[in-house]
Parts: sequence; C-alpha cells; structure tokens
Amino acid sequence: MKILVANLGSTSLKWRLFEFTNGVERMLHKGGFERVSDYPRAIEDCLGQLKAAGAITQESDLAAVGFKTVLARGVNGCVRLDDPVVQAMEAFNAIAPAHNPPYVSGIRLFAQRVPEVPLVGLFETAFYQWIPEAATRYGVPDAWHQAGVRRWGYHGASHKFIAERSAELLGREDVAERARRLYQDGGTTPVREPALRVISCHLGGSSSITGIRNGVAVGNSLGLSPQSGLPHNNRVGDLDAMAVPFLLRSQGLSLEEIEKQLCREGGLKGVSGVSNDIRDIQTAADQGHPRARLALDFFVHETRRWIGAYLAQLNGADALVFTAGIGENRAETRAAICAELDQLGVVLDPERNAATRAQEAVISPPGAKVTVMVIPTNEELVVAREVKRFLEHPPA
Ligand code: AMP
Repeated sequence: MKILVANLGSTSLKWRLFEFTNGVERMLHKGGFERVSDYPRAIEDCLGQLKAAGAITQESDLAAVGFKTVLARGVNGCVRLDDPVVQAMEAFNAIAPAHNPPYVSGIRLFAQRVPEVPLVGLFETAFYQWIPEAATRYGVPDAWHQAGVRRWGYHGASHKFIAERSAELLGREDVAERARRLYQDGGTTPVREPALRVISCHLGGSSSITGIRNGVAVGNSLGLSPQSGLPHNNRVGDLDAMAVPFLLRSQGLSLEEIEKQLCREGGLKGVSGVSNDIRDIQTAADQGHPRARLALDFFVHETRRWIGAYLAQLNGADALVFTAGIGENRAETRAAICAELDQLGVVLDPERNAATRAQEAVISPPGAKVTVMVIPTNEELVVAREVKRFLEHPPA
C-alpha cells in the first residue's frame, strides 16, 4: 500500500511517499517546492517526480493522499476529506489563518487532480481528544466555549510520534502499544504500573510542549490557535486577551493590522527585531545585540514555564524529550532550558548534549531521575500510519 503525505503551506508543497508491505514501513520518496506561485503546477510536478523516480507508475497506485490537517469545526481524528469536512475546516479559518486556508485550497486542487484517490486528513487536534475537560477550558462564557473558544492543542502528529517512540526507547512496550492504538480504542489498551510520564518539547519554527501520561496527552501549550503557547518564529504565543481591545482603542490599529502583526510580526521575530530564525538571532546575540539576547532568554523562560506546568500535572516526569528543528539541533538551547532543574530531577550530561544533533540519544547522565532525550520527530509517518489504518478499518 502506497500513501503520499502532502504538507501544504501557502507557498510551499512538501511530500513523502510511504509504502507498507507485510508489516514493513518504507519511505520511497520525499521532495518539495518552496516559493510556489502556481499550486496546480506544483502538484503536477510532485506527481511527475514520483513517476520519474519509479515510486509510482500512475496516480491510481496511490491508496490515498494523507494530510496533516490542522483543525475543523465539529470534526476531529482521522477522516475522509470530503466536501463537508473541507467546509468545516473553512469555518475555522479565522482560528488558524496561516494554516487552514492553504490546506483548504490545496485539498481541493488534489481532489480535482486525482479524483480517484481518497484524500484523508489526520487533524493536529486529534491527540488531545482525551485531555481532562478542565484542561480544555478558558474562563469565558459557556457560549464562547461551545462556539470553539477552547484549548484544542496542536502538533498532535509530532507529540504522538514522541509518545510512541519514547516509550519504545524506555523499554515500555505496553505504553508504546497504548499510544499506537490510541485512535482505535481511545487509550484503553492495558498498561502496567508505574505510569510513564513524558514531557515532549517540540521546539521549531512553531513550538509546543505536551504532557503525556501512559502514551495519552494530558494537555498541550497550544490552546485555541496555533499562535498560542510558546513564542513561535514570527507568531505571538501566549498573550493576555485584553491586549487586543487595548491596541484597538489606544493605538488606532485596525483588527486586520493587529491580526497580521500577531501572526507575522510577533514571536521571536517581534522580540528580537532581527529574524524569525533562531540561528540568526543567536549570531546577533553573540555580537552583542541586546534584543536578540532577550529573545533567546524569553524563549527559554517560556519553555521552562510550560515544562513546569506539566511537571505539576504529571506529578513529576520520567522523561523529558526534545524534538523538531531547535530541540533536535541546538545543544545550547537545551542546556539553557535544563539549567538548575536538578531539584526536579532534570540534569544534563554536557558532553552527551553537545555531541547530539538530529539523532536519537539520551543526554542525561546514567541513573538520572528524569531521562532527557533527543528524538527526531516524524510527523508524516504518523499521518501515513493513521491513514493506512483508516483505509483498512473505515468507520461504519
Ligand atoms: P522546524 O520548524 O522544526 O523546521 O524548526 C525551525 C527552527 O529550527 C528554526 O528556528 C531554525 O533556526 C532551527 N534549526 C533548524 N535546523 C537547525 C540546525 N541544523 N541548527 C540549529 N538550528 C536549527
């Protein structure tokens, strides 16, 4: 079975093609285009590359195209992307303005180009379907909550990958199996005592922290929108809601201008005034740029704040996992985040930490109370696996 996973941005198309045969998973092809101006052409070129590489001979070789869809009104989990679901995504465009519109238009273009191939989405909110209700709430009137103003949680594919892989690496096959089967049985696969408590730090262009107990999420730092929680590359992160009416009234900014600045001029870019890429910010900080240094400190501060939240919610942690562009590659950021947490059981081995880049590794010393790990994430594989399961066990 061949499943193409397409990652859609407003001006980018990236893909990975997976093949599943007799229990063996293989990635057959990966590629992508940046600065796309003609999306139908990009889809055509993607299919052309798959054929030229011999990964498929015709479109109907694809059992499905899978998408890491973000959120939709009244829809969650892994679902067929038919018209009502795409409309339900559109209904929440205002919550995820950087993410939903490109997915909606890209999915429609795929539907036109490969009408015979099922299109299936795994929503980024899917991993949070079982968080405690208190962790879904904001202090708003119930009508707002019913309308969708609640903590959804995102980066579900990435944190689910970490839930499974961390349990495997920690020798907890029971918990790994519960995580694997989560979307089939809602986390009821039996596990033994003691509970496995993992804090997963997805730190990249977009960042979030998830607390995971026995393979099931208890919450995520991303709330209503993928603009919340930690500061992101150029998106705001957590902000007191009263900032918006204050700016509207006192600075003469329009709602559209405020929205644009929250989504494009905020986060690390806004604080540093230098760049939305942490590598450039680090270079500027090293040259003495004070706001660049502040942006790095702010990112570390906010990450520790959320780690603290899940240390409390989980009553400690067995593992702290770093993943995504910053988490996998930046030893100095990991060291700053883990500094002076020894009373909570978090200690790094400086040499192991410095030597670890984009590979699976334990970076705490042997015998540490909390096992600190780096695990490269694989969101596309999670999507492909769930799409496969969906095709094999379609909902009644
Ligand atoms: P992601 O969204 O996961 O691709 O992560 C993007 C962020 O990770 C950017 O801020 C990059 O600066 C950072 N990043 C990605 N690759 C590296 C690397 N090799 N070394 C240091 N930082 C990196």
